[in-house]
Amino acid sequence: MPHEEKGEANMIRISHRLRGAAKTRAGKIVLWVFAGIGTATVVAIAALALTFTPAKLELPDVAIGDLPAASPPAGLSISALPTGTYDSPAALTYRGGAWSETRHLAATALLVRHPKGNLLIDTGFGRNVDEHITLIPPMQRTPQTKGVPAVDQLAAGGIHPGDIAAIIPTHSHWDHVSGIDDFPGVPVMETAAGRRWIASKAEGTEVINSLGAINYTLYDFDGGSYLGFPRSHDVFGDGSVVIVPAPAHTPDSVIVFVSLPSGVRYALIGDLVFQMEGIDIPAEKPWMLRWLIGENNMAVHEDIALVRAIREKFPQIHPLPAHDSRSFGAIPVFPASAR
Ligand SMILES: [Zn+2]
Repeated sequence: MPHEEKGEANMIRISHRLRGAAKTRAGKIVLWVFAGIGTATVVAIAALALTFTPAKLELPDVAIGDLPAASPPAGLSISALPTGTYDSPAALTYRGGAWSETRHLAATALLVRHPKGNLLIDTGFGRNVDEHITLIPPMQRTPQTKGVPAVDQLAAGGIHPGDIAAIIPTHSHWDHVSGIDDFPGVPVMETAAGRRWIASKAEGTEVINSLGAINYTLYDFDGGSYLGFPRSHDVFGDGSVVIVPAPAHTPDSVIVFVSLPSGVRYALIGDLVFQMEGIDIPAEKPWMLRWLIGENNMAVHEDIALVRAIREKFPQIHPLPAHDSRSFGAIPVFPASAR
């Protein structure tokens, strides 16, 4: 039998068999199951697509109290150390973002110079970032543009690892801690809860757990409530750098408030939102991202509500999402600084 005829005969045989099967009870069940799977797939795709459509986030009511006192010394300043960017469709950074628009997400460390010690808040991409990227799940790898690691930018400006008093990660995801091993021995400030999360080797902690011995310095939220956050830690005791717990994006996430001598303040909100639209609209991250990261949705909503309330009541406080390149425009690039 020629090949085509053979194929046709097979098709006829299969369709006869299907029809025959449909006449039996078992056959009917099989057909219904297939129809059910087909419908479920269409519904699932439609539901997933819906999670990327614009939707204004409903937020809880929050109270933030008075502006906390701060007496930053005249020598306090802040500088940006941009270490590179990675690309993402806007659609993956906040719900309602366009698939056609590419956002260049910042991987920027911040240097806070204080007479009592210099702090690095997040590290951006370190010298070994290529190796670190191989440790994260392939789905999370996106095109990168690498710049100069923070350690080398600082060295060019005369600041060496030994001149850094401590590193404060906003959380332990790879893009915030990749540079830690460029600063061997420099204390990394972490809470006991954060340390436990890292030690649990949870997804998202692959890179921090791959770094050599880290000199963790544990701190407590030993201070009172701060702008609606239940507890706080005042790093220098003068209100210039205050850390509050924000276990929403990850269990170890914190927000760092920096108050400059000029009266300008920054709320370094880490990855509470990936882009400013998360605060402005307000908009949550697309469901798929939240699910992959394992975020605490209720806590995210609460913290977004707090950040919005803070900005509205105290316009001198500027929220700064760690990956929003536009927001960093206000902070001079090292060795320049804002006071
Ligand atoms: Zn991040």
